[in-house]
Amino acid sequence: MLITPLVFHPIYSQLDLPVRHRFPIQKYQGIRDALAQKGVPDSSFFSPSPLNVDALASIYDPGYIQQLTTGTLDPKAMRRIGFPWSKQLVERTLTASGGTVLTAELALKHGKALNLTGGYHHAFANFGSGFCMVNDLYLAALKMLQSPNVDSVLIFDCDVHQGDGTAKLATNNPAVYTVSLHGEKNFPYRKQQSDLDFGLPKGTQDRLFLETVEEAFELSIRACQPDAVIYDAGVDVHVNDDLGHLEISTEGVYARDHFVFSRCEDLGLPIAAVIGGGYQRDIDALVEVHLQLFKAAGVL
Ligand SMILES: [Zn+2]
Repeated sequence: MLITPLVFHPIYSQLDLPVRHRFPIQKYQGIRDALAQKGVPDSSFFSPSPLNVDALASIYDPGYIQQLTTGTLDPKAMRRIGFPWSKQLVERTLTASGGTVLTAELALKHGKALNLTGGYHHAFANFGSGFCMVNDLYLAALKMLQSPNVDSVLIFDCDVHQGDGTAKLATNNPAVYTVSLHGEKNFPYRKQQSDLDFGLPKGTQDRLFLETVEEAFELSIRACQPDAVIYDAGVDVHVNDDLGHLEISTEGVYARDHFVFSRCEDLGLPIAAVIGGGYQRDIDALVEVHLQLFKAAGVL
């Protein structure tokens, strides 16, 4: 039987945060529970291991990785990340990014796979930013490129925030093609240059959004002729999102995700998807928007 592997670890939602911290850490377990409740069997789920710190230090700045994992980053660097340091934070970060790497491997094997976290696209080689410490998307692309059948990977990032860290990390790597659709007037205010960038105005609604998604996808397929796709399906584009400033409906999120999955299927491209950002404070409502990705992938 064909299965769509789903990658999850309970640690995704295990992080003690200050009261009123804006990060909706419970959403990952919420998605896992909702999928189970809707009949997705336990056998669909794969459990990731944390990334190896030494292997990580060979790709990123070893000083940054050392300071991050030992809790010796300076307070300014931690403020830029936006979470208080803890051992739990490090373990969660390494496991969540390990999850996206596992998702990339499973996508090559099964055609598609989804991580119930991921999309840490504001992480650079030598610093973290905006809740991101280790850039899982870039690591997943490098993992895919180790396959003899993969010479080119497209990172298609539809989170409302620009994939600045990913763009910067991939600048000198022609095998990784980066595309970002994002709110033009939103964090990060200093944008990096992806291979293709599409800055959307505040208040963008479904029609312009979906036209842009389709245009961006087709242009990038022509430009880089990828052998595999990594998709950041952030739902902070949603009209009810606290940080997004766009006005995309739940149906619009589904249409976006469905388009990306069906085009990858048409083209015979393996796709590894991550859930990306989403910051409604109402966790049940937020989970419902994230579930659109799973519907679009045929999991529900
Ligand atoms: Zn975002």
